[in-house]
Amino acid sequence: MAESKEKKTQTPKMPVLFIGHGSPMNIISQNSYTESLVKLANELPLPRAIMVISAHWLTDGTQVGCMPKPHTIHDFYGFPDELYRIRYASPGSPECAELVSKLVHSVQVKCDMGWGLDHASWAVLKHMYPKADIPVFEMSLHYSFNEWHPLPLTYHYNLASEMSELRRNGILIIGSGNIVHNLGLIDFDDTNARPYDWAVEFDEKVKANLISHNHEDLINFQKIGQSSRLSVPTLDHYLPMIYAIALQEKNEPLTFTHEGFQNGSVSMRGFRIG
Ligand code: ZN
Repeated sequence: MAESKEKKTQTPKMPVLFIGHGSPMNIISQNSYTESLVKLANELPLPRAIMVISAHWLTDGTQVGCMPKPHTIHDFYGFPDELYRIRYASPGSPECAELVSKLVHSVQVKCDMGWGLDHASWAVLKHMYPKADIPVFEMSLHYSFNEWHPLPLTYHYNLASEMSELRRNGILIIGSGNIVHNLGLIDFDDTNARPYDWAVEFDEKVKANLISHNHEDLINFQKIGQSSRLSVPTLDHYLPMIYAIALQEKNEPLTFTHEGFQNGSVSMRGFRIG
């Protein structure tokens, strides 16, 4: 009896998101991408807290932000002054961050007290939750800058798959990166620049693998060939997507929340699981 009562009062399972964040200019822009974020937030159950796996927090080992009041990090250069004046003053959630450390057993997840919220979080959340009244914390990417000894992508996939319980605790998990992200070939001046053919090709192949739940080919994305080398010259913006798919449960639907390109070499594709 007690058990069925408990089940009824359980928090519903939160969806998992992957969001392509693109240029910091999106922070102060209004376009089809930023409108998709507003729409998405309106459709989601209200989260107890939000955990963002950030393409911009690269560390030795996996860490979570445990600060009660994370500060806003302006980790971009050469943009209009207006962007540097913005603060996203959401509270943190030390208790949810500590829950992550407890849930993940395959690796040690360390509690960090120094980083805060970089723009992979707040550039997205500013549109989704402009009041900044939901607790937010980040998870870093354990990252090897040595291209000859990269960490296997399964490190990230396996650790993320241990976090599914967070969804039943009302925590919205967002991977924030970009499926195609080539800064060297970006057209900074034209947001609507025509995307490169290789960028479209890679983005379409990833889309097909997402639709067919083909996680293996998403992990082994290099098999796609030349378009993968140009689309993912470094792993930082691709990896947050691996965390999102690792949390997809059997037969759980995946829907795209936005698709398209910005600045020629950045895919703004986003999706929702559950
Ligand atoms: Zn970025």
